[in-house]
Amino acid sequence: MSNRYIIPVGKEWSISRLEELHPPLDPAICLNLAARYHIQSWILPAVCQLLDRFENGGRRIRAITDMEIGVMGIVAYSAIGRADKAIRAERYKVCRAQIALYHDAPDCRVGLGARRKCEDSWNLTLQTKMPGILLNPDSYTPLADLPSVLSTLYFPNVNVVCKSLSIEKLKASHCVTIEETIKQLAADKLWEQFGP
Ligand SMILES: [Zn+2]
Repeated sequence: MSNRYIIPVGKEWSISRLEELHPPLDPAICLNLAARYHIQSWILPAVCQLLDRFENGGRRIRAITDMEIGVMGIVAYSAIGRADKAIRAERYKVCRAQIALYHDAPDCRVGLGARRKCEDSWNLTLQTKMPGILLNPDSYTPLADLPSVLSTLYFPNVNVVCKSLSIEKLKASHCVTIEETIKQLAADKLWEQFGP
């Protein structure tokens, strides 16, 4: 790399050539180079690629090889590990805490019985289906996709308008952005740790 010659133009040129590589550089190498040559823009994409490694249908941090850990270094690997743990914790939390139901059907607004029926069906369906959607080790649904997954899910006695209002509210909640936020925070922290 041209860093040793202190020619910024050369650095920019090298970065853009490396970004054009096919197949692209391994994310572990990107993190190594990002740390050595202060390339902030490479950190987040590499963090995302490492966190979203798949094996047998599931997202697996163990799919990161020992060689990659050696290349990226223990600081970066620990950051990836912590972010992975945080994402898992959020998914468990969403699975355990019931997603809020907002009633919008006239029936539900006036009748306590109709409201109860709507609510029971919503809760029961979520309790039954959510573990399979969010905690299945062999398939991965990002929390960002939860609104579209719920919209295709059959809730036997939930009023259609209550369902769609609740899904709209879910779309606007932090639940759908939390995984991306955790990745961004991990990348920001790494950038700090890589130092000047
Ligand atoms: Zn309702």
